[in-house]
Parts: sequence; structure tokens; C-alpha cells
Amino acid sequence: MNRRKFVLNTFLTSIGGLVGINYLKGNNPIGEHLKSSVNGGIMLDNPTIISTWKFGIEANAAAYEILSKGGNALDAVEAGVRVPEADLNNTSVGRAGYPDRDGKVTLDACIMDKDGNAGSVAFIQHIAHPISVARAVMEKTPHVMLVGDGALQFALENGFKKEELLTDNAKKAWEEWKKKNNYTPPVGPNNHDTIGMLAIDKAGNISGACTTSGLAFKMHGRVGDSPIIGAGMYADNNVGGAAATGLGEAVIKIAGSFLVVEAMRNGKTPQEACEMAVHRIIEKQKNYKDIQVGFIAINKNGERGAYSLVKGFQYAFHQKGENKVYDSDYHLKE
Ligand code: ASP
Repeated sequence: MNRRKFVLNTFLTSIGGLVGINYLKGNNPIGEHLKSSVNGGIMLDNPTIISTWKFGIEANAAAYEILSKGGNALDAVEAGVRVPEADLNNTSVGRAGYPDRDGKVTLDACIMDKDGNAGSVAFIQHIAHPISVARAVMEKTPHVMLVGDGALQFALENGFKKEELLTDNAKKAWEEWKKKNNYTPPVGPNNHDTIGMLAIDKAGNISGACTTSGLAFKMHGRVGDSPIIGAGMYADNNVGGAAATGLGEAVIKIAGSFLVVEAMRNGKTPQEACEMAVHRIIEKQKNYKDIQVGFIAINKNGERGAYSLVKGFQYAFHQKGENKVYDSDYHLKE
């Protein structure tokens, strides 16, 4: 054990003792969240990454490149989600995303760092990497969120390149959709796929990112959960982080990712917290049988959870050097 770790462990042991004594006295001076993160042991030297869907595997690999060299979780999640943003075969994130019902590709993204700083862009057009614009909003402005033309203007002022994001393939899919769907935005389990990612770096710090082209063929101007801090993604360095995918309207209404993180703060495991959030949607959303929502979560100890409404949600998890896709458990069994 090196000196830094020894000092840290000694510190954690003494804090752990303090928490224990104060619990015995019925006193909780430094917060329930520290009970799990300190007593359970903060993850050190064990980078962990979780991300939504199967395509999270390549994103995790890019994030791990950074974490394995001692890089920080913020750089890792940004680099990770830039992979599907750039992927021309991915029709639900970044460049090549399916357009809205007017044929425009409009993107949403958000990012949070270990200090609780947050940045977000919504309804931005012509920029292939909205996650990096979200990071610039966080780091270079006094604001959290920029939308639409203002977000584009900010991106261009900060050196991002203006591009046509609509590919021939996405245009063809949109034209097909228009023939059959009478210009009505679809709400179903299979017309979306956001990447949300949480990472823990070697220092034990957590950051998160989330980026999407949103619901395919949505109304022009529609913004989903993904760029909304606490809905599409939330990270709290004392507790853990969570991200959502699926019908954003359902996630926004329950402040989904924040709900998951707060449940972990209050003692739930990441798995229990994800299940609780899905059950909250079932309580609140009348048409829950016709939609899909999935949550992923990790806590400070590197434990994970995932749960969705219906079958089919997958996530990618990278820990102890192993990067694998898992099928999430789900609610609607038949
Ligand atoms: N949550 C995203 C949205 O509603 C879509 C998705 O996850 O696929 O915009």
C-alpha cells in the first residue's frame, strides 16, 4: 500500500468509527450517504464504467483507455460517449441520428463532474458532439443549460464545426416513416436508444454523461430527459450516479436519475434504486405497458444496478478489466 492510500484508509477508518459511534447515539452528523461510501470502502485503483445499451461496450472501452492511465472520470465519460456520437451506424446518438418529424436532427446532452458541476445542451443542431458542447457550457459559462440556436452559436464561437448531421440512411427512414405515420410522433418501446454513462476513476471520483438524438420523429422542438440534469443523468460524488433511457417524458416526470441517486443515498443498493424508479413510473404513467424506460446506476463502491419496464434493455459494464454486455432485468414478464 502506498503512502497516499495508507493515509486515506486511516482517515476512512476513523471516519467510519465516528459514523458508527454517532449512529449508536442516534446521531448522524455527516449524512447517511457517507455510511455506505465510507463504511463500504471507496473504490480506489479500480476504474468502473457503466453505460446504456449494447453499443456502450465500445464507449466503455474508450473511457477505460483514459481511466487505466490514471485519467479522470470526467474526461473518460466525455471520450466514451463521443464514440456512439461519431458512429455513422448509430441512428439514435449524435451524427447519423434519426431526425425529428420535420427532418431536422436535433441533439440533447448533459454532463456532470465530481464536484457537482453540470453542463447541458438541448435542441442543438449541426454539431456532432453535443457532449463536448455541454462540457464547454459547464466549464466556460456561468450557466448550466443552453438550447437551440443559442447553443449552436456558443458551440461555433468555441471552435466546434458546423455539419450536416442527416445521413442518407436517416433521411430514407424519415421519408418511409412519413408515408405511414401521418406526421404523428411515435411513442413505443423501440424507437430510441440514448447513451448514458457513469464512471469511477482510480481516485474514486464519479462523473456522468448522457447524449442522444432523442425520440425518432419527435415534434420539432421536443426535448427529452437526456439533457435534463436529474432526469436523464445524475451523479453525486458522495453517493453514485444514474442514467436513464427510453421515453423521456416518463423519466422527466419522476426526475428519474435523481430519484435513483437519492434512493442510494438513503441506503438502497443500485439495483433496488433502479427497480424503485421503474415502479414509480408504473404508478404514475398510465400507458406504462406500451413504453420502455431503463435505468442504470453505480454507487461509490462500484456496485451496479439496472432495471427496465419491458424486456430488451441491455447495458455494458466494465470493471476489473472486463468489459461485458448484460441483459437488464425488467418488470413486465409476460
Ligand atoms: N430518453 C431519450 C429521449 O426521450 C430517448 C432514448 O433513450 O432513447 O429523448
